[in-house]
Amino acid sequence: MDVSVVGAGVIGLSTAIVLRDSGYRVRVLAAAGPADTTSAVAGATWFPYKVEPPDRAIRWSRVSRTVFDGLVERGEGGVLVRECRQFWRTPAPEPWWAEAVPDLHRLTELPAGFVDSYVFDQPVIDMRRYLPYLVERFVSGGGRIESARLGALDEAPGDVVVNCTGLGARDLVADDAVYPIRGLVVRVTNPGIDQVLSDFDRPGGESYVIPQPDSCILGGTADEHEWDTTADPALALRIRGRCAELDPRLADAEILEHRVGLRPARTSGVRLELESVAGRPYVHNYGHGGAGVTLSWGCAEEVVEVIKSA
Ligand SMILES: Cc1cc2nc3c(=O)[nH]c(=O)nc-3n(C[C@H](O)[C@H](O)[C@H](O)COP(=O)(O)OP(=O)(O)OC[C@H]3O[C@@H](n4cnc5c(N)ncnc54)[C@H](O)[C@@H]3O)c2cc1C
Repeated sequence: MDVSVVGAGVIGLSTAIVLRDSGYRVRVLAAAGPADTTSAVAGATWFPYKVEPPDRAIRWSRVSRTVFDGLVERGEGGVLVRECRQFWRTPAPEPWWAEAVPDLHRLTELPAGFVDSYVFDQPVIDMRRYLPYLVERFVSGGGRIESARLGALDEAPGDVVVNCTGLGARDLVADDAVYPIRGLVVRVTNPGIDQVLSDFDRPGGESYVIPQPDSCILGGTADEHEWDTTADPALALRIRGRCAELDPRLADAEILEHRVGLRPARTSGVRLELESVAGRPYVHNYGHGGAGVTLSWGCAEEVVEVIKSA
C-alpha cells in the first residue's frame, strides 16, 4: 500500500516512520521542511499541555513516553531525562495527567511564594537534533520527503492520505475548529541549571525553564487566536526576567535567540480519525495544541491501527 503523509512537522515525520516500519510505502509531502515548522520552535518537554481530549491524550502520551525512554537509553535523537519541578501558588489537586506519570510526587519544602508542587522525571527533547534525527531515520529506510503545498487533500497520490498539517488543516480541510495558540520561547546561555522549572499560575504570565545541553529555553506565552509571529525583543527580556524568579542566575544569561510559534489547537481536541471520501480513505492527525511532541508516537501508532482496520 502507498501512503502519502502530508506535513513534515513532528506529527508527520513520526507518523511516516511508524507507517514505514509497519510495511507501508510512504512519502511525505510538505509545504515547509521540518526546520520551518512549529515543531522546530517547541521547547520541548514531554508533557500533555493545552491538549484535548484527556483520555486519548493520556493514552498517546504514555506510548510516546515509552518511545522517548528508549531513545534516552540508546542515546539517540537528542533526548534526555531531567527532573521537572512545577511550582504552584495555590494548592494543586491531583492533575488529570497523573496516571501517565508514575513517579509523580510533591516537595515538602518549597521556594518562597509557592504552596504546592509536582515533581517527576521528564523527557526533554532538543528539537534542533530531534527533527533531523527523525528525517534521517525516515529517509535512510527508503522514505521520501517532497516539497509541495496542497490546495486540497485529494491532490496527494497514494492509496491512503494521512493529514498531519497542524494549523494548515484549517484551510486544507476547512476546519474552523483549528486555531493558533501563540508561544514565544527564548534561548539563553545555561548558567548551570539541570532541572526543568515552571511557575504556570504566576500572576502576569507563566514562566518555565527547560535546560538543554548547551543552553536553556525560557518561556512562555500562550496567546489564543493570535496569528502574528513578529519577534518581540521586549517580551523576550520580560520572559527572562520572569524566569529569573525561578533561578536568579538567569537574570544575566545572554539571549541567544527568540522564536515565535503557533501551537495548532482545536476546540474539540485532536482530530485523529478516518474519513472516506468517494471511497478513498483519509486519516486525519492534527490539532495537537501544546503537546504535539508529547503525543507524536502514540498518535502515529493509532494512525496505523486506523489504516489497518479500514
Ligand atoms: C512555543 C512553543 C512551545 C512548545 N513546547 C512544546 C513542548 O514542550 N512539548 C510538546 O509536546 N509540544 C510543544 N509545543 C507544541 C508542538 O510544537 C506542536 O503541537 C507540534 O509542533 C505540532 O506538530 P505538527 O506536525 O502537527 O505541526 P507543524 O510542526 O506545524 O507541521 C505542519 C506541517 O504541515 C505542513 N502543511 C501545512 N499545510 C500544508 C499544505 N496545505 N500542504 C502541504 N503541507 C502543509 C507544513 O508545511 C508542515 O510541514 C510547543 C509549541 C510552541 C509554539
